[in-house]
Amino acid sequence: MAQEIGDYMAIIVQKYGGSSVADVDKIRNVARRVIKAKENGNNVVVVVSAMGKTTDGLIALARQVTDHPDVRELDVLLSTGELVSCTLLAIALKSMGHDAISLSGAQAGIQTDSVHSKARITNVEAKRMLKELKAGKIVVVAGFQGITSEMDVTTLGRGGSDTTAVALAIGVKADICETYTDVDGVYTADPRIVPEAQKLKVIGYEEMLELAGSGAKVLHLRSVELGEIYNMPILVASSFTEAPGTIIKRGLEMEVRNKVRGIAHDLNVAKVTILGVPDKPGIATKLFEALAKANISVDTIVQNASVERITDLTFTVARTDLDEAMRVVEPVVKSINAKGCVSDSKLGKVSIIGTGMQNTPGYAAKMFKAMFEAGINIELITTSEIRITCIIHEDKVKDAVRALHKAFELDKGEV
Ligand code: ASP
Ligand code: MG
Repeated sequence: MAQEIGDYMAIIVQKYGGSSVADVDKIRNVARRVIKAKENGNNVVVVVSAMGKTTDGLIALARQVTDHPDVRELDVLLSTGELVSCTLLAIALKSMGHDAISLSGAQAGIQTDSVHSKARITNVEAKRMLKELKAGKIVVVAGFQGITSEMDVTTLGRGGSDTTAVALAIGVKADICETYTDVDGVYTADPRIVPEAQKLKVIGYEEMLELAGSGAKVLHLRSVELGEIYNMPILVASSFTEAPGTIIKRGLEMEVRNKVRGIAHDLNVAKVTILGVPDKPGIATKLFEALAKANISVDTIVQNASVERITDLTFTVARTDLDEAMRVVEPVVKSINAKGCVSDSKLGKVSIIGTGMQNTPGYAAKMFKAMFEAGINIELITTSEIRITCIIHEDKVKDAVRALHKAFELDKGEV
């Protein structure tokens, strides 16, 4: 509750994505929704993304100047996208008779480290926002940006406005962070692949993180991590309808906890196998240090048990990183005296996710049986406490998602 501003009104943070503010009519639509929240008796802080594909356009513009634009300057350039949408929204709100104020990330008190293009928020100094709320204003904040202790503008990485919203919600001690986008919630699977997919009413933070990490791109990952750490409920809903969305929160009910909650998939997967690797200490370090240095993030890693001190080592990377990964790996292969390396770029992954599988046997068996019955060969398997992932051929991913959705009865009943 809003003790800081000395009354009993709730504080809510609403975030609207780029497609929700893509043109002036849509900005007016957002203004009407914000006004409704205010008239329902809430203090409202609104965070906006840049209009439509503005950020892509700004990046393209800088690349017309040079292939490698300076990161400090690029951050200032990209931050202007959100300044346009947040000022236009404040103008719209005022023209509709409501007092509002736009604030840049810096003005809103969003402090970050100095890693340009993927800065992390270190603190939110909420005083200014609280002062404006207390004066009865709707506070409109430019998403995706902050400021370093040296007063340099930073951006938070693509999709970072979600993280702005959750950080601000924590900073002003909001009751909820509502994120509005062009999807109306989190589904049991991608509805374009599984028409029977159901919208989840609630989902846990951990489950949401696994879903997002496994290919369901709804929210910026960091925003969910922050929500989890500070126990801030996050709503995912559509800005174009009144349909109830999905709430990400702690402490789900028993019935929900005991189930697989969603099937995630990802088509951006490639595999590299290093053959005939001598089985001795230090080899893995050499390889993965080289990949880390090249900024390539490695997902699944599998090393076989060795036969006569020779083993194979397989890992996966994003398909978009495969060429670079091979370039990095080839000299390492020579230096460690491995036999060679091969790659396969036509892979995908499919995952079942749910806290229910913690300490409960049978999920893996059921998953593999469904894959077998659908005639799908599994190349690699990895697990976390609440996820099982199979790497398979890309052509089989859709079939796998459908088969698993059915096997775990996600098309039936309450979710
Ligand atoms: N405008 C930024 C982007 O396109 C940030 C965001 O939309 O959240 O990535
Ligand atoms: Mg987004």
